[in-house]
Amino acid sequence: MLVMADLAERYGHDELRISHEQNIILPHVHKSHLFNVYKTLAKAGLGSANIGLVSDIIACPGMDYCALATARSIPIAQDIARRIDTLKLEHDIGPLKIKISGCINACGHHHLGHIGILGLDRAGVENYQITLGGEATHNARLGERAGPGFSADDIVPAIERLIHAYLAYRKSASETFIETYRRLGPEPFKTALYGERRASHAA
Ligand code: SF4
Repeated sequence: MLVMADLAERYGHDELRISHEQNIILPHVHKSHLFNVYKTLAKAGLGSANIGLVSDIIACPGMDYCALATARSIPIAQDIARRIDTLKLEHDIGPLKIKISGCINACGHHHLGHIGILGLDRAGVENYQITLGGEATHNARLGERAGPGFSADDIVPAIERLIHAYLAYRKSASETFIETYRRLGPEPFKTALYGERRASHAA
């Protein structure tokens, strides 16, 4: 925060904005200063070019900070981001919005994620329900529940299966996750989540 505040003072007009996508915008920077801004951010570990990509996740405070939560959100987002980093596929995957809420109040807008994750409490155990196909654009749609939820240990592998299904089914590298989902519908993605036999019973 101090690094960004210093950048705003030095290169902007003392202004930082927080977006609903949980990113920080540094406005009014002259183009000639961009590389210096980037170098400073990179030195502080803030130089990843991941905006709009799969690790650019919206996650609500969840059980770590919110008294209303029924599950954790932030550690799930961190686990997904770490897994994606390990796979080295982020730029190949392209635009993909994952949004996570830690209870039904939906502060993480999970129902508007291409992949949404809703953390629930099942008999005292965290359980994560996946929704697919949400979108907050001029084509706005609520995501549809894919089927039974996953444990905290199983949710990251489940997300990975969805991503691999998308990579296998897309027509070309320029077809985005949501475009592939709209073209094929939920079934191939449910099969990726639950297998052939359970997919027809999910939902
Ligand atoms: S969605 Fe629930 S857990 Fe997350 S911030 Fe909102 S009220 Fe808290």
